[in-house]
Amino acid sequence: MTKTILVTGGAGYVGSHACKALSLAGYLPVSFDNLSNGHDWAVQWGPLVKGDILNPLDLERAIAKYKPEAVMHFAALIEVGESVKYPQRFYRTNVTGALNVLEAMERANLNKIVFSSTCAVHGDVGDNTIIETSPIAPISPYAKTKANVESMLADFSTAHGLNSIALRYFNASGADLDGDIGEAHDPESHLIPIACQAALGQRDGMYIFGDDYDTPDGTCVRDYIHVTDLADAHVKALARLLDGRKGFEAFCLGGGVGSSVRQVLETVKQVSGVDFPVKMEPRRPGDAPQLVADLTKAKTELDWSPQYSDLSTVVETAWKWHKGRV
Ligand code: UDP
Repeated sequence: MTKTILVTGGAGYVGSHACKALSLAGYLPVSFDNLSNGHDWAVQWGPLVKGDILNPLDLERAIAKYKPEAVMHFAALIEVGESVKYPQRFYRTNVTGALNVLEAMERANLNKIVFSSTCAVHGDVGDNTIIETSPIAPISPYAKTKANVESMLADFSTAHGLNSIALRYFNASGADLDGDIGEAHDPESHLIPIACQAALGQRDGMYIFGDDYDTPDGTCVRDYIHVTDLADAHVKALARLLDGRKGFEAFCLGGGVGSSVRQVLETVKQVSGVDFPVKMEPRRPGDAPQLVADLTKAKTELDWSPQYSDLSTVVETAWKWHKGRV
């Protein structure tokens, strides 16, 4: 029988790609989303429940109606700069919201959850690649809320037998390979979508935030992971829980390769064929010079490795998506 999975934030960027991956793997994803940042057009592989994780009754009703086997929890606020200005919003939505999800699960005897976390729980590790055992040392309120939820998952595992997997994303990027869905944040703050908008003439140009870092070309190095690879890792994590994996565990998910801001912008210019203006700006507060994933654990224990996370596939799919939306 088809297994139903409740996907909070299923109308968002990573959540909607996870719904497609779930559907391709034979599950029925039920998206639970308040559409504050998500889009109803992104919900294409199962029903949409309009509801809010801050309203426990909404969660209870969705669980009672659809009787999911497990939960994937994506619904959260994500913009780091906003989290510095308005931490209360982030603690409310990301921490209280997650607590509501766990309590609703407990009431319904549901004990399996895949959680959307971030490599930013590790803060700045210098030149090292990040592994699951790197210290938890979040810097921004956003990253602190994600670390809080990870602690909550671990504590609920000890106290209530909850089984959970936290997936610590590096830079989610690119768009669905068939062009069905893609990234559509408003306002947009991420590098690749902003570069695509600049190439489309939707902005006069763009800025590089800092070229005086101690990195090969002076700009920040990030590990871009194609959103389809990320979605596939969620399905693998879910299968691991359904197979009976107990307790709490975390995996770092990236492409495993570092790319500088300049390299990304060069690739967007090449792929789009547009030489848009790029100006220098001072460093953006809170940016670590380099964040790159060590994928050993994900490869060996989750049996997952990235297939589409090379920079050209990431940028080509992102470009196709943004161009198609004009
Ligand atoms: N960045 C930039 N210009 C922009 C947006 C981002 O130079 O208009 C840089 C940013 O400082 C960081 C990298 O691009 O070094 C990736 O930023 P993004 O916001 O996409 O993801 P983050 O790594 O912050 O999660």
